[in-house]
Amino acid sequence: TPNVSYRGRFAPSPTGPLHFGSLVSALASYLEAKHHQGQWLVRIEDLDPFRQPVDATPRILHSLSAHGLIGDEPVRYQSQRYSAYRAAAETLVATGHAYFCRCSRKQLKASKGQHPNHCRNHYLNPSVSNEHPWPPGDFALRFALRSQRCRWTDQLLGEQQQSLQAETDDPVILRKEGFYAYQLAVVVDDIDQSISHVVRGSDLRTMTAAQHQMFQALGAAVPQFLHIPVIRNQQGQKLSKQNHAPALDDTNASANLLAALNALGQQPSAQLARQLPATVLAWAHTHWQRSAIPVPTAQHW
Ligand code: GLU
Repeated sequence: TPNVSYRGRFAPSPTGPLHFGSLVSALASYLEAKHHQGQWLVRIEDLDPFRQPVDATPRILHSLSAHGLIGDEPVRYQSQRYSAYRAAAETLVATGHAYFCRCSRKQLKASKGQHPNHCRNHYLNPSVSNEHPWPPGDFALRFALRSQRCRWTDQLLGEQQQSLQAETDDPVILRKEGFYAYQLAVVVDDIDQSISHVVRGSDLRTMTAAQHQMFQALGAAVPQFLHIPVIRNQQGQKLSKQNHAPALDDTNASANLLAALNALGQQPSAQLARQLPATVLAWAHTHWQRSAIPVPTAQHW
């Protein structure tokens, strides 16, 4: 019987095809969900048309299915969710959690992140009417963080803490160009899809504290987080699109899955490489041990 209290997801941004590091994240989130008899969803975070090659989404979906990684519900596309992001953004404005900002990056840098136009104080001041055109034109919308030392327990990395500074760290949630930002959309969809457990690469670990505050501002429970170690190439560089990590070879799916299981500290027999991806996944599901995932020392997260 499915465990409705565990809902996980893999949520790639389609800025290019999947590489080995993304497969490791996808596989870890899949196996954690299956191990808990939970559901596993796929969400395409296609928010930024200027950073998305047109073939990236179909290539990602093809790779996932070639590796047997099929979601339990239809794929969700963030490009179709603008009205939900707008509603959430309007709620955040109405409840004093977001404000309009016209400061340029250059201005903010020159004033160490403090807003020279005092936009935050202006818009969050209840005596000021919040009449504002929507979409906000040449304004960005920022989330108003509370200064806080945020603490949480990562399911792999253990106790975490991160300091947030109000104003200087306030993330953009709607860009001047009219696109909703990752920071808002990821939280709105995790809430809407009732995601209980977020498993993702530890490069996203530093986003967690601000996301905690956004879940709370939107009146939702904060999910559990598990950040898996970043995968590095032989030169010790993080595998990423910026470092030109090669696209996964979908014709070699079982061998890729085996390599990903090894990166996650699991010990599959090499003979599984000759089996179908579904067989490799079934083995991994049965033998999955979260505690075998190698935990890097803090400076390598
Ligand atoms: N879409 C984000 C990325 O590909 C990940 C979202 C998340 O797992 O929080 O970097």
